[in-house]
Amino acid sequence: MRNKAVSLLILVVSASLVQAQRETAWDEQFRAIPDAAAIGRYMQRLSARPHHVGSPYARDNAHWLLARFKEWGWDARIEQYDVLFPTPKERLLEMTAPTRFKATLEEPVVAVDPTSNQRAEQLPTYNVYSIDGDVTAPVVYVNYGRPEDYEELDTAGVSVKGAIVLARYGGSFRGTKPKIAAEHGAVGCLIYSDPRDDGFFAERVFPDGPMRNKDGVQRGSVLDLPVSSGDPLTPGIASIPGAQRLALRDAPTLTKIPTLPISYGDAQPLLAAMGGRMAPVAWRGALPVTYHLGPGPTQVHLKVAFNWDIKPLYNVVARIQGSAFPDEWIIRGNHHDAWVNGAADPVSGLAPLLEEARAIGQLVTRGWRPKRTLVYAAWDGEEPGLIGSTEWVEHHDAELREKAVLYINSDGNSRGFLQASGSHTLEHVVNEVAKAVTDPETKGSVWKRWQARVIASASGDRRAEARARPDLRIGALGSGSDYTPFLQHHGVASLNLSFGGFDDDGIYHSIYDDFYHFSKFSDPGFLYGRALAQFAGSLTVRLAEADLLPFEFGNLADTTQTYVRELQALLRQRQDDVRERNRQISDGVLAAINDPKEPRPIPALDEVPPALNFAPLENAATALTRAAERYKTATARVSSDSAVLRQVNAKLIQSERQFIDEAGLPRRPWYRHLLYAPGFYTGYGVKTIPGVREAIEEKRYAEAEREAARAAAAVDREAALVNAAAQILEQAGTK
Ligand SMILES: [Zn+2]
Repeated sequence: MRNKAVSLLILVVSASLVQAQRETAWDEQFRAIPDAAAIGRYMQRLSARPHHVGSPYARDNAHWLLARFKEWGWDARIEQYDVLFPTPKERLLEMTAPTRFKATLEEPVVAVDPTSNQRAEQLPTYNVYSIDGDVTAPVVYVNYGRPEDYEELDTAGVSVKGAIVLARYGGSFRGTKPKIAAEHGAVGCLIYSDPRDDGFFAERVFPDGPMRNKDGVQRGSVLDLPVSSGDPLTPGIASIPGAQRLALRDAPTLTKIPTLPISYGDAQPLLAAMGGRMAPVAWRGALPVTYHLGPGPTQVHLKVAFNWDIKPLYNVVARIQGSAFPDEWIIRGNHHDAWVNGAADPVSGLAPLLEEARAIGQLVTRGWRPKRTLVYAAWDGEEPGLIGSTEWVEHHDAELREKAVLYINSDGNSRGFLQASGSHTLEHVVNEVAKAVTDPETKGSVWKRWQARVIASASGDRRAEARARPDLRIGALGSGSDYTPFLQHHGVASLNLSFGGFDDDGIYHSIYDDFYHFSKFSDPGFLYGRALAQFAGSLTVRLAEADLLPFEFGNLADTTQTYVRELQALLRQRQDDVRERNRQISDGVLAAINDPKEPRPIPALDEVPPALNFAPLENAATALTRAAERYKTATARVSSDSAVLRQVNAKLIQSERQFIDEAGLPRRPWYRHLLYAPGFYTGYGVKTIPGVREAIEEKRYAEAEREAARAAAAVDREAALVNAAAQILEQAGTK
């Protein structure tokens, strides 16, 4: 009897050892398969012709992707959604005073670039989801068009009321530029690419170099993404047949004013003719003109009109059913639609994803069966507003709530360092995988090179930390790619992965983002495409295999503590700034430095922000820290009892959902994550604990306190879940 029990124990122990070895083995086997040359071939095929939403080649690509998944043993299909996708009917921009000039609004063919001549299939340069409009008005230059730029204009006594603003690209999501301009009373918005940001000031221009040339234009969406992503006519619900669609005039995420992107070739005559006060030094670009603010005497006539069509989206979704936990989904995605040929955006991320799918198919032929279900997706309609992924998430709402373990996104890739952002419960596993993947150039680990970069670029505490903290920090996610519906609408733990950092380019969303440019300037040989496939695929294999899901709460608790301290510092800084400015107003400092020749208005005294009660947040963060420590201790003697592990995993899968509050954020209920959101006025840039942070920034102090209580409740929910997971393990351990 006793002997039997002992041998049974030995059997269990050695079985779990074998199990652990097998996990490593599959993981390692996986990494040996991805092939850089194959990634190059996929890119050449997928970017051979323009493939924007609704185009023939987007459909062709979707079917080609479908065939590849099937060929490699995946159960794949196309899930279609019909969504609003306007294209230009008329675009006109002319200067009417002080001289006349008509903008070309064209990107010319470049002889050495073999796909730049596909004129018939290229979308014209435009900003999708601008409203129709026909306006004539004086121009005001607004720098990047961010809230702080309008504060600067205020101090200079310049108003944009009734004007057409000329904003430069950069500094914020483009869709916030017409939004903020309209809030300030502007009637139109032009967005141009200044050569200082992505043109000749940065490097040689295409085709001699990678940067944007005189006529290059950045297309792109001006959807009010910080309010909601997805089809503007079906916010919060899937665009399936029979769905209740809003009337166009009621769609809340379209712009309020007509908007058009232009090249610096078209912007230069407008800027050169401007008068008024000089633009602040930091606002001046690299064009050979004197940058003035206006308004006028430059006056322009802007006319845009669109075909407001409904177009089909083709999401390609492929699955391999999990052998042990088919109802636990590991989801991996990258979009397939582009603005034009889109070799960098999105194919440099999509081609590695495809190579992962081929490698996983090979593992399956060698006998691997993932324990959890793998869902690989090539999304359509990302460019206009994360539409394919959002509609899919809204469509599969109930299933995702229950089954989604995590979502791994990519969207473009190039040569350089690992760039990982996402849920801090996944910070540890990202570090682990980074130690296992080899950097193609240094031949050391991806992690070592990542660490070196943080040490070299950070300062003070952060530098010391990068040398000593076991895990390097990952950033928080704002928006700008398909993780948004998963993470911020649904509470699915998410990651966004890429390599990059060496080669700036200036072809984003232009006809020159193509195979010729990418293979010459971005990742020749596709070695970092291979590294991305190895990284994201290893992560997928590990998560599919793990007996206990590798979520870590110490990293999350530490990050939450940091956010709470940042909020306290933000409030203190605001209080100090207002006190100092009020003092300078009262004691005459501002009056004394004013130039009577060009006087600036003296602002009124401002109210000093009140003290806020951060105690609930501090207490919740402390509770989460304690729960995380308890969980870590409990996992040190992890049970091999599959029923116990199943219970713990069920908790872990729900861990990100604890940050979801069904009521959503103030003024944008679609965004429901109380820890991470894209900024209401930054668009892509993240705001952490957004309810509180934005209320302080926008001087709504009563709201800040209410939001602090709501965020604290979410952190408390998370602490309770982590304690419950720890308790299950503790009880199993004492059995
Ligand atoms: Zn993209």
